[in-house]
Amino acid sequence: MFNTLSDRLTSVLQNLRGKGRLSDADIDATAREIRVALLEADVALPVVRAFIAKVKERAKGAEVSQALNPAQQVVKIVNEELVAILGGETRRLNLAKNPPTVVMLAGLQGAGKTTLAGKLARWLRAQGHTPLLVACDLQRPNAVTQLQVVGERAGVPVFAPEPGNGVGDPVAVARLGVAEARRAQHDVVVVDTAGRLGVDEEMMRQAVDIRAAVQPDEVLFVVDAMIGQDAVNTATAFRDGVGFTGVVLTKLDGDARGGAALSVREVTGQPILFASNGEKLEDFDVFHPDRMASRILG
Ligand code: GDP
Repeated sequence: MFNTLSDRLTSVLQNLRGKGRLSDADIDATAREIRVALLEADVALPVVRAFIAKVKERAKGAEVSQALNPAQQVVKIVNEELVAILGGETRRLNLAKNPPTVVMLAGLQGAGKTTLAGKLARWLRAQGHTPLLVACDLQRPNAVTQLQVVGERAGVPVFAPEPGNGVGDPVAVARLGVAEARRAQHDVVVVDTAGRLGVDEEMMRQAVDIRAAVQPDEVLFVVDAMIGQDAVNTATAFRDGVGFTGVVLTKLDGDARGGAALSVREVTGQPILFASNGEKLEDFDVFHPDRMASRILG
């Protein structure tokens, strides 16, 4: 996903090699090139501006390390600022003091929510949890069946609407699903919800109602990293319309420019918790800002 950005940044930073001392003009020129590379990678403009300002300020400042030459110093600063815009520390899933922990997934149709539900369920199981998946996407044909399929692959049961079980009413399904988790002593409930192709008032209202009904410990906004700047717009719409506590980036295996991934944390103020990078259930991991930054810097 970050190949182009990674190549660009590496070559910009390589140009500094061998310089004994960096003048302010060297730093300005480097900052300009980094700025272009980030904009071309589709990173949101305010994020780029803040990033460049920070890098310049630090590179020109009194940060002198005996151990590093000037070029290495700039690489270090760029790396640290990348880690910072990606959220700094790894943010762990918030677990409820009194189980079950309720995790609600929200996002556009096609973002990868249902797939993510299966990945998360599999990962939770591997962590020693006893999750239950709840199928509240009653919008997309087959979403319930798809969740049942991924649930089976993950070895995790799925609570799906059945006659007398909230058919046609996603809010009721969510409520009944959480009640079932409590009864059957599942310690984490993952609630899959419906998305639409675009930001849509009814979808937002439904998500707000589900959120109010089950009071989730985490609302994870699932976003396709391949949709570029739209990811940032959608994230802002969901933040204002539904609210969320964390972000999951999907399709990081794609060959898009990746700027969304670099912008969403900074723009929404919410941390990225997980990353999805493929269609298989195991193509999933906790998001580590430092590892992602190292990957980008090659
Ligand atoms: P939903 O509408 O949000 O529930 O989205 P789905 O889970 O149905 O995913 C939409 C499509 O994206 C499916 O074809 C998935 O196989 C695919 N998909 C989901 N996550 C990833 C990912 O991380 N990488 C890739 N390449 N495809 C993914």
